[in-house]
Amino acid sequence: METRMKTMTTSGGAPIADNQNSQTAGTRGPVMMQDYQLIEKLAHQNRERIPERVVHAKGWGAYGTLTVTEDISKYTRAEIFSKVGKQTPLLTRFSTVAGELGAADAERDVRGFAIKFYTEEGNWDLVGNNTPVFFIRDPLKFPDFIRTQKRHPKTNLRSTTAMWDFWSLSPESLHQITILMSDRGLPQTPMQMNGYGSHTFSFYNKDGERFWVKFHFKTQQGHAHYTNEEGAEIIGQSRETYQEELFGTIERGDFPKWTLYVQIMPEADAGKTSYDPFDLTKVWPHSEFPLIKVGEMELNRNADNYFAEIEQAAFSPSNVVPGIGFSPDKVLQGRLFAYADAHRYRIGTHYEALPVNAPKCPVHHYHKDGSMRFFQNDTGNPDAYYEPNSVGGPSQDESYREPSLKTTGIINRYDHRDGNDDYVQPRALFNLFDTGQKARLFSNIAAAMGGVPDEIVQRQLVHFEKIHPDYARGVADALGLTALAKGA
Ligand code: NDP
Repeated sequence: METRMKTMTTSGGAPIADNQNSQTAGTRGPVMMQDYQLIEKLAHQNRERIPERVVHAKGWGAYGTLTVTEDISKYTRAEIFSKVGKQTPLLTRFSTVAGELGAADAERDVRGFAIKFYTEEGNWDLVGNNTPVFFIRDPLKFPDFIRTQKRHPKTNLRSTTAMWDFWSLSPESLHQITILMSDRGLPQTPMQMNGYGSHTFSFYNKDGERFWVKFHFKTQQGHAHYTNEEGAEIIGQSRETYQEELFGTIERGDFPKWTLYVQIMPEADAGKTSYDPFDLTKVWPHSEFPLIKVGEMELNRNADNYFAEIEQAAFSPSNVVPGIGFSPDKVLQGRLFAYADAHRYRIGTHYEALPVNAPKCPVHHYHKDGSMRFFQNDTGNPDAYYEPNSVGGPSQDESYREPSLKTTGIINRYDHRDGNDDYVQPRALFNLFDTGQKARLFSNIAAAMGGVPDEIVQRQLVHFEKIHPDYARGVADALGLTALAKGA
């Protein structure tokens, strides 16, 4: 048995006698069609890639733990937050958004910050970014926005013109642009950045009371960023710095940590803020909704197999657990469909049965066949393959019913820019920057505008002017423009 354990086999389990030489007719060939070992090897290699993610293709991940340090059970019945000291295993995946699978890590881009909490009541996926806001507030605009970040259909190059054309026609992007072009747009490592759930979610407690909630993970490693010049130099030395840093840090036992905070808004207060609290381009100011400490996330284990556990890790905001719910946030609503749909396409129908995605709690569903149906009957009884049934198969449990979500709307395609001030929050951020940060913001924007037609630049400067005259002037100076267009 000992020898057998070490004997190489085919995927069918047959021992392999020679893995160095193909089977040939004579020493010079040709190779034999019957050499199934050769054919199996080549066929497998052909199938080693699954489609890369359309966005967030390049990623780095690790396992860890969330430890609850404060009691927030008055807001949520979620088991994960049920008592102080409770620990829940988790998986994180960090990523850049625009670059392909082979993109360099130290590029200026928003970073994905996705966490899968393996709770006793199912997987809760918080699929956020290192920024609290996003470029758009309507999911109908997402495919167009992403198109501007990807390659031009003719040149097959990324187009700064497309990016700034879209952005300058979409003032709701100003908040996120200001973050992206600020120091925080190029973190040195995944450990040195915050994570945000970004969307507004909801909590509901045992009494059925609902609260709106935002999630914040603040780095305990401190923020550290590269300038564009430093980033270029780093990429010249290594394109894989995030993988090196994250993997190396954990391998050395130097486990990175983040403090988890929430902001809480009582359900009825959603109509009282000067901004739409479900608008993904807005934050909730801390002065109005202070951060409430919840716990600590630590990353402490690397994956054994990058492809199996990080490339095939599949996060979806639709994975919530009792005590955590959604909100009217339109982009969240769009993502609830799009993420799970993307995984069914790129990994396979039963992607959640893969070990990295599988819940650690019992799973009892009646979904039937399809790709990756490698697991046995979920219901524990072969006769229970539909529901309801009278053979004792798993059934619904009323005690998990979520309190109703109140809506009062009349269905229409409302102008999502109507009544929205897209300048006030970027202004609050701009006012936080010191002189050095502002100078780097201006030069980063100017660098990102290389090759953009003057008409688009001027249209964008008008928006910067509305944030703050110093903003427009600073960018114009960095671009070497002597005159601003009328209105800027
Ligand atoms: P506060 O002064 O209370 O908080 C400022 C926040 O800005 C902190 O969370 C800080 O994060 C973060 N921050 C600092 N520099 C940057 C940067 N270059 N890019 C992104 N975030 C940065 O202000 P308010 O709550 O009143 O918000 C003011 C502005 O701060 C907002 O318009 C928004 O742009 C930004 N912000 C607000 C957040 C919120 O949830 N309210 C969250 C993140 C940013 P840290 O504590 O880690 O240094």
